[in-house]
Amino acid sequence: MSAQLIDGKAVAETLITQVREGVDARLAAGKRAPALAVILIGDDPASGVYVRNKKRNCEKAGIRSLAWDLPASTTQDELLAIIDQLNADDSVDGILVQLPLPKHIEPQAVIERIDPKKDVDGFHPYNMGRLAIKMPLLRPCTPRGVMTLLESYGIDPKGKKAVIVGASNIVGRPQALEMLLARATVTVCHSATADLAAEVAAADIVVAAVGKPNFVKGEWIKPGAVVIDVGINRLENGSLCGDVEFDSARERAAFITPVPGGVGPMTIATLLQNTLDSANLHA
Ligand code: NDP
Repeated sequence: MSAQLIDGKAVAETLITQVREGVDARLAAGKRAPALAVILIGDDPASGVYVRNKKRNCEKAGIRSLAWDLPASTTQDELLAIIDQLNADDSVDGILVQLPLPKHIEPQAVIERIDPKKDVDGFHPYNMGRLAIKMPLLRPCTPRGVMTLLESYGIDPKGKKAVIVGASNIVGRPQALEMLLARATVTVCHSATADLAAEVAAADIVVAAVGKPNFVKGEWIKPGAVVIDVGINRLENGSLCGDVEFDSARERAAFITPVPGGVGPMTIATLLQNTLDSANLHA
């Protein structure tokens, strides 16, 4: 058996078109286009690529993007002051601060300063808490994007055993909450998990978000399982690979996401979806 590939690029394109339609509907109703402020601090090359990508996709969706490109020397107080200004600005619907931040800035202080109504990354404790109590508002982009991918391939997590490998605040934990919301039975694995192979082998749906190339072995995958690979790892030869050993996992799985072209494009498309949602909720 060879798994069906889940085409994240295609699903993301569809989602961006839907967001564009939502934006057009706002304009037709006499409302303004949604606006997203993107704050980039310093000159980390990977972050620069992500931010440019976000801006380009905003244009595609008809969302106005406001670029705040700040020097690495920006102090935490200066950044917090900019966030305060954007929080108070009624023409801004979403605020995104590109992570990671320079070492002298405390990320949690920044995340918690963003008005939860404009927290399009969904990282504020308010939005994480809403997701935890089955009342989601703005949901973290990558896990929400994974749920959209599953839905678009007719995969319903209800009653299935979902195993999340990774428990970070931005991917693993909110992914577990999303799966629980979708009525899966959820196991969350992390670096203290005793027998990872056995946990993964029991999964109908595996989501890998570890950040280690080819870490989840193909032989662990239950035949017929759905494999979602969130990992993005750059190898020494410059190519990208995921957290799952792709070729061997593909032989056993029913569905699998490639890297690149799987979850990655969904994260950005979901950011646009969240920005539209935020605008529709408040403006
Ligand atoms: P983090 O480093 O924040 O978290 C990694 C998680 O993996 C932690 O929970 C850690 O456990 C767990 N882990 C580490 N080693 C092991 C192990 N030996 N066994 C089991 N679990 C282990 O990473 P992120 O969540 O931020 O990112 C994960 C990956 O996803 C990265 O490759 C990143 O680039 C990618 N990513 C992709 C996105 C996309 O759009 N596709 C978006 C965001 C991230 P513990 O909690 O115990 O430390």
